[in-house]
Amino acid sequence: MTDTTNASPRLAPTLPVEMIDAMRRRGMAAFSLTLAEARQLTSHMRRLSLAVHGDDAFEPKPGQDMVFMLPDETGELNRRHYSVRGFDRAARRIEVDVVLHGGSTPGTRWALDSKAGDAVTAFGPRGRNVIQHGADWRLFIGDETTLPPIFAMLETLQAGEKAHVILEVGDEGERQSVTTAGDVTFQWIFRGGRHAEASSPALIEALAGYEFPAGRGHIYLLGETSTIRRQRHDLLARGVAKEQIFGEGYWRPGRLGGHDHLEER
Ligand SMILES: Cc1cc2nc3c(=O)[nH]c(=O)nc-3n(C[C@H](O)[C@H](O)[C@H](O)COP(=O)(O)OP(=O)(O)OC[C@H]3O[C@@H](n4cnc5c(N)ncnc54)[C@H](O)[C@@H]3O)c2cc1C
Repeated sequence: MTDTTNASPRLAPTLPVEMIDAMRRRGMAAFSLTLAEARQLTSHMRRLSLAVHGDDAFEPKPGQDMVFMLPDETGELNRRHYSVRGFDRAARRIEVDVVLHGGSTPGTRWALDSKAGDAVTAFGPRGRNVIQHGADWRLFIGDETTLPPIFAMLETLQAGEKAHVILEVGDEGERQSVTTAGDVTFQWIFRGGRHAEASSPALIEALAGYEFPAGRGHIYLLGETSTIRRQRHDLLARGVAKEQIFGEGYWRPGRLGGHDHLEER
């Protein structure tokens, strides 16, 4: 695919000023991004490299995401969250890894159909999903949608910083590797080639069977909302303090875009 990073962006649909102002009040600036390159990472994950335009400061922290405004079948724009998997500050370019979870949805169509030079608007960067460097150990657990932010955070770990990662993906072919200076162990769970559909008993069981290392840990529960709500319940029952848990619902059956907070219930 041709790299058109320096070409003038083809404009994304204009957003209402009220929306831009409302997002800005929530600490999110609007950026225009143009697709530079797209490639398949695995059968079900596609990487988009996007040039970020505009005068606003742009400093995403590893683990944070952007809210992309993507058209549905009628052309109406809808919010879809995607994590910043990679950030090249000098080139002002980000990488976003999109899970092709089956069906024709705004997110999967964007990933598959976008051409170099296509423009999209996104708000952000946002989110409290960032690494806690002070912890004695960290546990990251989630499905394939959580792999991009988890790997982005793992890349920032220093020598001696401990982490364990439990990831559920469709099959062996969806497994990826990451370079980190940290002391990281992995546990992969395979779904027998199926797309995720609902709550994951395997992830709930894997967390229940995880023996905490000594010291005070920090646990990241990310992914399908009912899975992480159950996991948080189980952790609290094991005596883990609320402050040691960060959770965010990335998707759930029937929900269109958006995100769920764990602390609400
Ligand atoms: C903070 C945050 C960061 C995220 N980062 C990433 C990321 O880096 N990469 C990524 O791929 N996703 C990420 N997600 C998840 C992504 O935003 C959702 O999966 C989103 O719903 C995808 O939009 P869509 O248009 O494809 O499907 P939608 O139109 O939103 O959903 C249609 C239906 O598809 C089903 N569905 C949606 N997502 C999934 C899924 N992952 N697996 C199975 N079924 C699904 C549901 O039944 C849903 O009702 C993130 C979410 C949040 C909140």
